[in-house]
Amino acid sequence: MSRMDIQEKTDSAVLGQFDVQNDPFILVEVERLLGGRTRDIYLKGKISALFRDRIWSQTAKIIRAWMIWVALLDVLTLALNLLMLPRAVALPMLLPGSFLPPVALGVAIVWRKPRAIWLQTAVLIVGMFLILLSIALVGASAGGEFYERHLSIMLFVAITAVIIFAIPLASTITIAGFALGLYLVFQLQNPNLEIASSLDATLFFTIGIIATIVARRTMTILAQKTFLLELRDRRRVNQLAEANARLEHLARTDPLTGIANRRWMMETLDHLWSRSTKNSGRVAMLMCDIDDFKNLNDRLGHAEGDRCLIKVAGIVQSHMRGERDHVARYGGEEFLVVLPGIGEREALAVAERIRESIEAAALSNPSTRVSNCVTLSIGVAVQALGDSISPEQLQRRADMALYRAKQIGRNRVELHRPGD
Ligand code: GH3
Ligand code: MG
Ligand code: MG
Repeated sequence: MSRMDIQEKTDSAVLGQFDVQNDPFILVEVERLLGGRTRDIYLKGKISALFRDRIWSQTAKIIRAWMIWVALLDVLTLALNLLMLPRAVALPMLLPGSFLPPVALGVAIVWRKPRAIWLQTAVLIVGMFLILLSIALVGASAGGEFYERHLSIMLFVAITAVIIFAIPLASTITIAGFALGLYLVFQLQNPNLEIASSLDATLFFTIGIIATIVARRTMTILAQKTFLLELRDRRRVNQLAEANARLEHLARTDPLTGIANRRWMMETLDHLWSRSTKNSGRVAMLMCDIDDFKNLNDRLGHAEGDRCLIKVAGIVQSHMRGERDHVARYGGEEFLVVLPGIGEREALAVAERIRESIEAAALSNPSTRVSNCVTLSIGVAVQALGDSISPEQLQRRADMALYRAKQIGRNRVELHRPGD
């Protein structure tokens, strides 16, 4: 399975948690948010949870990678300092610098899989505070030029986190607040700096950090808008698929009886024949026609005729073997039945059972030439599927057998004979 497939699966799993397509709250809220100004987009409730879940794996991956890089850089810097700086400067850096890697790796481990939101947030915030504190303490311990340099590095580290961590605004502001707070507190302690200069520098960096928070917020809003558009698209694609399925069903169904129509039967026959081989076995066709149906219409009215057609269709269909057999309303009062995989004897038996069931239903037809009930004549034709006979030819044979059934008295089943 490709990575894209996995992502797609995760996305559907996330979206599947809620009934995104039918939840009225989500539908209304998505349209309301997309209808307003982009900058006013503010996700809440279910949509907010959906968005969080949707971006979780990417956010977690970024946070993990960031933590590992910061830990590596910290170790590398401490090692370089030991090699290149005088011992008196480098050694005091070791202790405050050494707690950064375990903290960073601890945060990365917690963010390896989804956990309670409060836990993830708390671990990230506390972890970030300790990481920033570690960097500031390294500078303060070394003193001199390193004091201010490490505070600047600490701010730089905080800014990268603010920009790339796609976390809620409150958490972003908290991390930025930690960075500025630590900067101010440490600068006020800086023996080489006046208080006014410390305040001045903090103010300067505050403005810079506010700009990065605004940039982060803009990126989040754009990601949220893309997510809302995706929710809307999914719904529209589903609606379209449903409408298509409904149309397809309508195009294949006889509106009066609800069974398949002639068009569908032609497609089924083409399909059956195109898949057939010499060993496909036999196929039987039953052409069924209600006897003296015109008289029923004339005597009882067209509406009664329609009701009779619905009942006859239901009875014929009840004799089908699940998905295997097919029945369709072929014309006005004619039904075509296709029974794959059966020979003449079985086909005649099925036809006889259908005929008997119609007779047993005793549907009224006051003036038939046979009885005062609705009856059915059936022509049967059977052929091996692999033979070079087309569905039209087989159907014509069933028609000829039906013609004979009508001629010799109706309400009967006749098998096609070569002499027909
Ligand atoms: P036979 O026994 O020879 O088949 O006689 P028949 O009267 O059944 O045959 P014919 O072909 O003369 O008449 C078929 C009748 O079916 C004519 C038509 O009015 C009627 N019919 C066709 N479609 C519908 C329909 O949808 N509803 C109704 N009520 N009648 C229909
Ligand atoms: Mg007819
Ligand atoms: Mg008829």
